[in-house]
Amino acid sequence: MVNTDKEYNKLLLEIKELKSQVSEANEIIDAIRRGEVDAFIVKNEDDHEIYTLKSADKTFRIFIEKMSEGAITINRDGIILYCNSSFAHLINIPLSKVIGCPLSQFIPDVYKDFVANLLEKAWNEEECKAEIIFRGEKNLPIPVLLSASTLEIDGGLSLSILITDLSIQKKSEEQLLQKNKELEDAQLVTKSLNDGLERTVKERTEALVKEQKRAMEKKDEFITIASHELKTPVTSIKGYIQVLRFNFEKDGNAMAAQVLGKVDTQINKLTTLISDLLDVKKIETGKLNYREEVFDYNELVKEVIEETGRVLTKHTVKHQLDETVLIYGDRNKIGQVITNFIDNAGKYSPQNTDIIIETFKEGNKVKLAVSDSGIGIPKSQQHMIFDRFYRVSGAKENTYSGLGLGLYISFEIIKRHQGNIGVESEEGKGSTFYFELPISNSLSHE
Ligand code: ADP
Repeated sequence: MVNTDKEYNKLLLEIKELKSQVSEANEIIDAIRRGEVDAFIVKNEDDHEIYTLKSADKTFRIFIEKMSEGAITINRDGIILYCNSSFAHLINIPLSKVIGCPLSQFIPDVYKDFVANLLEKAWNEEECKAEIIFRGEKNLPIPVLLSASTLEIDGGLSLSILITDLSIQKKSEEQLLQKNKELEDAQLVTKSLNDGLERTVKERTEALVKEQKRAMEKKDEFITIASHELKTPVTSIKGYIQVLRFNFEKDGNAMAAQVLGKVDTQINKLTTLISDLLDVKKIETGKLNYREEVFDYNELVKEVIEETGRVLTKHTVKHQLDETVLIYGDRNKIGQVITNFIDNAGKYSPQNTDIIIETFKEGNKVKLAVSDSGIGIPKSQQHMIFDRFYRVSGAKENTYSGLGLGLYISFEIIKRHQGNIGVESEEGKGSTFYFELPISNSLSHE
């Protein structure tokens, strides 16, 4: 009984001794971890032996300990010789239970073979990196990157393994993928909306254009028919009026002859309108005929001034012509343009003001300008007045009669003669309409 007691007490003492040794050993390990110990003396059977921590200086040890990546060193048998707290934290196992254990113990079953192969490659100095999934706290999956390489310490070879937690990176990647997917979906929706919108706009525009074209065609058709139908009776009326006028003059009935003269003037206006309408149709279909010849320019200009001046009795028509030149073109049509300019000058300027017609010979061109002191044209509308049916809009829109065709026809005629046409005008002050034509160098033209 006494003996048993003795044995028991001895064992208790031994346990106590062992406990203190373990605690001392743990303290030393902690001190090494913290970089507070560079060497230590171990007492063996015969004498004392000094162990220095050559390969791990203080800074390096602290660095390894503090870094967020897990760091492990294993020997050829796969036993963990060293491991930092980050790794222990990662796999959620106390540090003291990791060191000295085989690494395979902490590798999930599904990866065991894979990691074993991988580490084998690393032992053979091959590049060794791979992603696996650890189970951490609450058995949650933690994606990590393993990268291993051999390390020579104190003449012996070991394998150092770095374990990088990829959770945040993977999460960001997933979020990025998700966002990309959302973006793609949104783009698809936007595209389909855009396509739909584009289709609708296109369809509606096409329908509108078609409708407008149809309306325009109908209008053109009506105008053509109407002008054709009007042309013959108006020509007959004009003929009868001239005969009547001649007879009244012969009979000495001046009063009746004068009235018929006025009727004739109005008939002339009507004739111009009808022929303008017919000209427009011909321009549109490319059928406006030009009878080209070489002619004396001043002769034509004077002729037109005389004719129009006869009608513009309430204005003073003045002219200043440069030396004459030869022009190759359709004399009547160019005369029509000058008539249109002078008629407009009379129509859009007050009575008792001047209308000035000038010509300028400039190099191989001759310019003709008709100026008035009339209502002028706002700058914003000047570029449109040569368009078909365009009339300047504004307060005085309905004061003056007209169809907005004269300048359109003039533009086409001058263009056809390789000339150019334009206007300079100031609202309320007056306008100068001009055109330039190339001068012909000879009387003969092929
Ligand atoms: P119309 O005179 O028959 O309307 P035009 O094609 O000759 O047609 O002229 C187009 C428009 O240009 C006119 O309606 C008028 O608004 C403007 N315009 C033409 N000449 C003058 C001018 N001398 N002064 C002011 N406005 C003019």
